Amino acid sequence: MRMILVGPPGAGKGTQAARLVTKHQLTHISTGDMFREAVQNKTDLGQKAEEYMKRGDLVPDALVIEMVMERLGRDDCATGFMLDGFPRTVVQADALEAAMKQAGMSIDVVVLIEVPDDLIVDRIVDRRMDPDTGEIYHLKFHPAPAEIADRLVHRKDDTEEACRARLEKYHGETSPLIPFYDGRGILKRVDGVGSPDEVSARIAQQIGS
Ligand code: AMP
Repeated sequence: MRMILVGPPGAGKGTQAARLVTKHQLTHISTGDMFREAVQNKTDLGQKAEEYMKRGDLVPDALVIEMVMERLGRDDCATGFMLDGFPRTVVQADALEAAMKQAGMSIDVVVLIEVPDDLIVDRIVDRRMDPDTGEIYHLKFHPAPAEIADRLVHRKDDTEEACRARLEKYHGETSPLIPFYDGRGILKRVDGVGSPDEVSARIAQQIGS
């Protein structure tokens, strides 16, 4: 299966992607994770991406497209993949579609996780990640066990200011993907309000598994 996960920042894409890749044995491609790793390793790409990310801006299309196309060409993507955080603009979606067509493939399903804006800022500002397991916690809604509390990290772009900028980008640049994929008959809408288990169940129902 070749799947795309779309939704505003804080919609729960990371949490649901981790569950879906295990369940359907897909290669997980998170462009946000790839950029964070590049920033941490201080690669050329990381240095170029860092400023955009800190501000909550999108990294320029050309850089993202090149990185994703290289990744999709690797063997572990041949049997199926989950794109999480890509595409985020219609230019990226067009590039992906052209590359898939050239390879004689297509995207099977696009899952859109919908969460109203007023819930997003609350979800994001108190979000924390366990760097050892990748598990995502929330100070109020999903607190981490006390023994790991000290190692939790707060993403640099999970401030209120950067979050508002990311939401603006989502509505301006990413939401046009909704009619783009709806027009191709592969968009599935899922209500992202509720517990991770509730959202997983809705996704399973929508994708018929
Ligand atoms: P995420 O972890 O998906 O929220 O991504 C974190 C940040 O990485 C975003 O706010 C962007 O700065 C950058 N980024 C990730 N994916 C993309 C993309 N497809 N296009 C442009 N920028 C991206």
